[in-house]
Amino acid sequence: MGTPLLTATVHPLRRPCQPRRHRFFMPRRLTALVALACLACPPTAAQALELAALPTCPTATQHCLTLQVWLPPGDHQDWLTQQLQTANDRLAVIGAAVQVVQVHQLPANRLRIDRVAQRDDLGKLGSQTPLRWFVVDRLMDNAEPGRQRKGVTWRAGSQVWVIESQQAWRWVLAHELGHVLGLPHSTEAHSIMNKAPRAWPPPWQLGFTAKEQPLMRRTLAKLLKQGRIEKK
Ligand SMILES: [Zn+2]
Repeated sequence: MGTPLLTATVHPLRRPCQPRRHRFFMPRRLTALVALACLACPPTAAQALELAALPTCPTATQHCLTLQVWLPPGDHQDWLTQQLQTANDRLAVIGAAVQVVQVHQLPANRLRIDRVAQRDDLGKLGSQTPLRWFVVDRLMDNAEPGRQRKGVTWRAGSQVWVIESQQAWRWVLAHELGHVLGLPHSTEAHSIMNKAPRAWPPPWQLGFTAKEQPLMRRTLAKLLKQGRIEKK
């Protein structure tokens, strides 16, 4: 699955079946039957996604960072839109935003990430850039048996990628990108990096604080210089 399935908008009717390939081997009627059967094929999540309809980097963004996303089966258009909008709203304070430029189908044997080895194994998919974002059916904690996680930023050597459960709240991608840009967890009330449950402030008032932004800027510059993330 090294090649992107999609780099532009794909009409949902464009299905993976290609009966024309068989026309030299099958009678014409059978070819027509295969074509009809193919029209009944449900599109994969990657094919059904309208890439052009996802949020893009605002025009004035100084650093428009590219993402490639792996999707499990299902319709993820609204979920992706919320995650990207929230992340870009928060990243604006450092002049950054993210934009999906490649969409892949998550292989069936990677839908559930239960063990550390499976987190590592995701790194075999695709290349280091654009930044990899794996959306999975289930993400289990690596230390506490039975506990599900919403997201994790995973590192192997010099590489980094984001793994997110498709049950994650809209703020999780922003939080994980904070980790990608060097931030640890925080105890500041308004920080999106603060994981502690609290009644105030409400989640929509969370973001990257003035104290966190200098480290994010420095890490961003370093990652860009090293070619570990890339700009559009
Ligand atoms: Zn975290």
